Amino acid sequence: MALSQGPAGPGGSTTVLVVEDEPAIAQAIVHRLSAEGWQVHAVGDGLLAVDTAARLHPDVVLLDVMLPGIDGLEVCRRIQAERPVPVLMLTARDDETDMLVGLGVGADDYMTKPFSMRELVARTKALLRRQQRASQAAELSTVHQPEPPLVVGDVTVDRAQRRVLRGADEVHLTPTEFDLLVALATRPRTVLSRERLLAEVWDWVDASGTRTVDSHIKALRRKLGPDLVRTVHGVGYAFEPAEPTTPAEHAAPAGT
Ligand code: CA
Repeated sequence: MALSQGPAGPGGSTTVLVVEDEPAIAQAIVHRLSAEGWQVHAVGDGLLAVDTAARLHPDVVLLDVMLPGIDGLEVCRRIQAERPVPVLMLTARDDETDMLVGLGVGADDYMTKPFSMRELVARTKALLRRQQRASQAAELSTVHQPEPPLVVGDVTVDRAQRRVLRGADEVHLTPTEFDLLVALATRPRTVLSRERLLAEVWDWVDASGTRTVDSHIKALRRKLGPDLVRTVHGVGYAFEPAEPTTPAEHAAPAGT
């Protein structure tokens, strides 16, 4: 499988796990993704999906939400707890995407059914490219001087260790939330369009994905506080934390 194209997983081939209980959809996805030269495995049950992910170590997981056994949310949590892997969630409705991101299940991208196979392949490739870039960056930072942390207002973003602090408190972000925060925080007080964020963070250029950006911004606000990211209506988002006076103020905001 060393000849397979695209980002290489362990052993040189790319392994995709498809979790979908509707046989016709699962079959269509397997057929299309196999044409990319990837090793594609499909399962139709939540518990089996968790076991299969632990066994196969897939490079990416495509995950339906409504499944027999345990649902896609729980499958995502359990798979990610075992070993971080990019997850593309397949949702039934647009508002379901908002709900899922809000719950912080840790999926990296979302597609609403029905979707085109062309779009599914493009988004899967984008996730694989991101994963490859992240592991290359991690390798580089062990060889070279790690990038210094970004400090904007009372937010510290340590890119080398992928850690985030607000004041003295550590904030736990999903990999996608972290990448989105880095994209925003490297250019504070600058309005970045949804399309630009989509291209930079998801490596994906298509207006149909902007809802994914909105959903992840909501998740960032929920975890970091509502006051950091300003919505510029009709344009995009800007990272605008207040300048701290002393670190103690964040810990005790009641004081003046
Ligand atoms: Ca289903």
